[in-house]
Amino acid sequence: MSGVLKNEYLKKIFDEVMERDPHEPEFQQAVFEVLESLEPVVEKRPDIVKADVIRRLVEPERLIIFRVPWMDDAGNMRVNRGFRVQYNSAIGPYKGGLRFHPSVNASIIKFLGFEQCFKNCLTTMPMGGGKGGSDFDPKGKSDNEVMRFCQSFMTELYRHVGQFTDGPAGDIGVGAREIGYLFGQHKRITNEFNGTMSGKGIPYGGSLGRKSATGYGLCYFTANALAAKGDGFAGKTVVVSGSGNVAIYACEKAQEMGAKVVAMSDSCGYIYDEKGLDIEIIKTLKEVKRCRLSEYAQAVPGSVYTEGCCNIWSVPCDIALPCATQNEIDIKAAQLLVKNGCKCVAEGSNMSSTAEAAYYFIESGILYAPSKAANAGGVAVSWMEMSQNSTRLPLTEEEIDAKLQKIMKDIYENVSSAAKEFGLEGNFVAGANIASFLKIAEAMMAQGCC
Ligand code: NDP
Repeated sequence: MSGVLKNEYLKKIFDEVMERDPHEPEFQQAVFEVLESLEPVVEKRPDIVKADVIRRLVEPERLIIFRVPWMDDAGNMRVNRGFRVQYNSAIGPYKGGLRFHPSVNASIIKFLGFEQCFKNCLTTMPMGGGKGGSDFDPKGKSDNEVMRFCQSFMTELYRHVGQFTDGPAGDIGVGAREIGYLFGQHKRITNEFNGTMSGKGIPYGGSLGRKSATGYGLCYFTANALAAKGDGFAGKTVVVSGSGNVAIYACEKAQEMGAKVVAMSDSCGYIYDEKGLDIEIIKTLKEVKRCRLSEYAQAVPGSVYTEGCCNIWSVPCDIALPCATQNEIDIKAAQLLVKNGCKCVAEGSNMSSTAEAAYYFIESGILYAPSKAANAGGVAVSWMEMSQNSTRLPLTEEEIDAKLQKIMKDIYENVSSAAKEFGLEGNFVAGANIASFLKIAEAMMAQGCC
């Protein structure tokens, strides 16, 4: 963290977080950013300070940690750790994805759950915030191993989730295959076919447009923010990090809107093609064959593969869409992007930028769209999936897309007007934090001491 909290009340709350969770750097980073944004709010709202809403908000309602035993194909017993944070239910049942990645720990799950509360609120839908996952790595595992792991994971998780309690979905390492196994096990145990899990396949209750919602939503948010400056995607050079669910559909929509996407990455390296990338080839490599992005360079003459994913930010671009993981843009990458002419950074991955990088973007005056606001399209369509499961009335792809476009436009307008109201025009970090916090705070105060 590079900033300093000026308000004594907020400073004390942050000190308590540091003391209580000293080994949770990602969680501390996420909390600090929100507290900093709330400085003008606490000055204006003594009722919120009196009700001690912020002190309550920085502590999750519940964190569940559990053992996940499973058998590999060779007959060996393996044990992973499972997590679910049910962060805040002031405005609705907990909702948020599951991440399967070796880096998963309590700090990462808590930062993701904390962020999710604000993001879900911005969608205007009545969802609280949650998140979960495991340090299990699906990469290199057979389908049967992934299935056995998912079944074991759900055998514990099912007792904590439900359509009116907590709705999990996908995130890093949890795509259509994993959701299918998780849903199947939940159905077997509960004997209910319902919308607890979202991101399901279309034949068994999934929503059209869910797979593409986060990436498309990111571009819709960005297009609104660019339009306010009389600009757009057309003719722009774009760099997208990652090549998973969010990245693929961000690339597809940016291309549809007239941009040229010249680089994408995975955790090993990045590909570059000055003529623009062929998204259909990337889909086949990553979604069907589940192979490394380096194979793109073999499939497309003229494209170049470079080892090391972080160097993707050295590729000059007008618009950067980080869509891989947290803190993927550090201060050096941020400086390089701006030096090379980048005018807009919109985050598809959660907390894509380190605190220093985020400050740098804001101070540079470029258009900086934080993840909470810019990637909220995925959870918004997840909620629509749950809603379709409850009413038994599916929506068409066109209906979903129209709703998604409206939601992202509304988020943009809400966030930019909140920033303006508190004297921070153009600062979408502050706008997103303030707009969502105020609504959650009202709900918490109305519900009394809980
Ligand atoms: P996927 O697992 O589908 O894809 C993740 C991509 O990022 C892969 O290309 C992966 O490479 C790459 N990646 C993962 N870790 C790293 C790393 N440490 N360094 C560089 N690259 C890395 O995940 P999603 O696309 O679903 O999620 C991406 C981001 O978007 C996450 O931050 C997630 O929290 C966020 N998000 C996702 C939503 C969704 O709807 N799925 C909704 C809102 C936010 P490799 O294949 O080599 O592992």
